[in-house]
Amino acid sequence: MRPTDDSYRHKGLRKKLVQHIHSKGITDDRVLDAILEVPRHFFLDSAFDEQAYEDKAFPIGEGQTISQPYTVAYQSQLLEVKPFMKVLEIGTGSAYQAVVLAEMGAQVYTVERQKKLFDSNKTFEFLKKFSAIKLFYGDGYLGLPTYAPFDRVIITAAAPEIPQRLLEQLKPGGMMVIPLGAGDLQQMMRITKMENGSFKEEVFGHFSFVPMLGGKES
Ligand code: SAH
Repeated sequence: MRPTDDSYRHKGLRKKLVQHIHSKGITDDRVLDAILEVPRHFFLDSAFDEQAYEDKAFPIGEGQTISQPYTVAYQSQLLEVKPFMKVLEIGTGSAYQAVVLAEMGAQVYTVERQKKLFDSNKTFEFLKKFSAIKLFYGDGYLGLPTYAPFDRVIITAAAPEIPQRLLEQLKPGGMMVIPLGAGDLQQMMRITKMENGSFKEEVFGHFSFVPMLGGKES
């Protein structure tokens, strides 16, 4: 069962989590405000209420995880989202990252390749409040050509290489944040599509994500 009650205790735990994330170097107030707003315990079974506000990744079934809050904050900060931007997310998972981006004012198009996770999000009451989030079942490697171009692309699974189709779906001036690498650790990268069509690559710290896989799973 998913919890639906957001108590003062939960809000207090969130405040502590935000302080912790801030102390680790996240300074974008819009990111910190979003983490403070979003009840992360809603995204986990009520049995894991206590763990929801630890700065840790957590299993959500189907061998997948809800990303660590610091990682969500880190990617959100690098993405430099502004209100009304169109953001493509690959790897909906628990939908926590999608809600954080929506809370920051983004129009979120999020793709998940596992049918069970997609279905579970389709019936997730809390998500229905966010008309700015559109859920898709499909292979994220293909992106969403019908809805392209996007201002931003965020990949929340470990990509063994930079998916070219997703670069094509970026607007000129747009950015992609992607954890790149096939091993246990990935390098966070930000790729900016310049107005002249060339790409600028910036390299950040190391993180650990579940792999980005090809095709769909029913
Ligand atoms: N953003 C998520 C993180 C989930 S973990 C959150 O906030 O909870 C990564 C997710 O990416 C998993 O659910 C996995 O099934 C999904 N995934 C992996 N490869 C994918 C692909 N090619 N297309 C879409 N989703 C993919």
